[in-house]
Amino acid sequence: MLRWGVIGASTIGREWMVPAIGAQPDSTVAAVASSSQERARWYADELDIPTAYASVADLLAEPTIDAVYISSTNEWHEAQVLAAVAAGKHVLCEKPLALSLNGARRMVAAAATAGVVLGTNHHLRNAATHRKMRELIQAGAIGRPLAARVFHAVFLPPHLQGWRIDRPEAGGGVILDITVHDADTLRFALGDEVAEVTAMVANQGMGQAGLEDAVMGVMRFRDGVIAQFHDAFTTPHASTGFEVHGADGSIFGREVMTQRPTGTVSLRRDGREEDIPVEHENLYERSVRCFNAAIRGEGEPAATGADGVQSLAVALAVREAAETAQIVRVASE
Ligand code: NDP
Repeated sequence: MLRWGVIGASTIGREWMVPAIGAQPDSTVAAVASSSQERARWYADELDIPTAYASVADLLAEPTIDAVYISSTNEWHEAQVLAAVAAGKHVLCEKPLALSLNGARRMVAAAATAGVVLGTNHHLRNAATHRKMRELIQAGAIGRPLAARVFHAVFLPPHLQGWRIDRPEAGGGVILDITVHDADTLRFALGDEVAEVTAMVANQGMGQAGLEDAVMGVMRFRDGVIAQFHDAFTTPHASTGFEVHGADGSIFGREVMTQRPTGTVSLRRDGREEDIPVEHENLYERSVRCFNAAIRGEGEPAATGADGVQSLAVALAVREAAETAQIVRVASE
């Protein structure tokens, strides 16, 4: 039985990841660490976690912990991942992997040196819808992919309107929160890397301290695909979607940019559109299942540390493009 420690008494951990780790036949959440003793205790009681620590160091010093899930605010990811791999723990870290590209690269290098598994929790790769879309593209169902459209403008619910909208130093803003997921999902579905980007941001009343709460932009992939994206915290009634248009057909993922195992996929070609069946599965449970397997030496995490680096590189390039009103080349590994 793999024993997990959870670093950060977070909402995502409470709503999705602690239940997902506990749902596996081969893993259990053994401990949580928070910077507050009181919150650690409350979280442990709420989620039935046996041990609550008021420091990350205390959790990492526990030799029976095999792996840690890190979902603190973004400015802590790098230091906590480096500490965890130094303690010999496998690490599944939330996105964005770090606030800087060099920081994210340091994390990947440290995990490789320590011989532990590092994964990035880009959940959308685990969606049956996105997996089906990738499969169709790889099978040539739409011919040569030419363009993609990502509709990921949502409304940030009141209980999450904290650091995301008012703390730049915590990695707030819609680009590091949502565009980084778009980048990862596009990279996954297309099997290609982003070469350059351009973007324009807006503040529509939610972002503070100069943080953007909406962004639209374009990514150009190395093999020529152009992808448009719209991400926001401010649109309560927009639908989400992910489309890929090829020379011989188009794939439509509707209501698929979500944490929930929902949405549909259809394929339009030869003058007709057909619904493509997908077998939905909890995205976070699949993420943990793949990670547990990777610890056993079976395959890789759904999104590796290197994926976290590359998807962050795209998001940082989008931010720079918006700030400078330029086309920005995306750094490669
Ligand atoms: P939260 O704000 O809920 O939690 C982040 C940290 O804030 C916690 O680790 C905790 O710190 C502190 N905190 C939480 N509640 C309180 C409180 N009431 N008072 C004071 N401090 C508090 O963040 P999220 O769960 O929304 O996001 C956490 C991470 O997960 C981010 O990196 C985010 O980008 C990522 N994320 C990923 C998603 C995905 O689908 N892949 C979805 C949502 C988020 P402490 O460590 O001290 O306990």
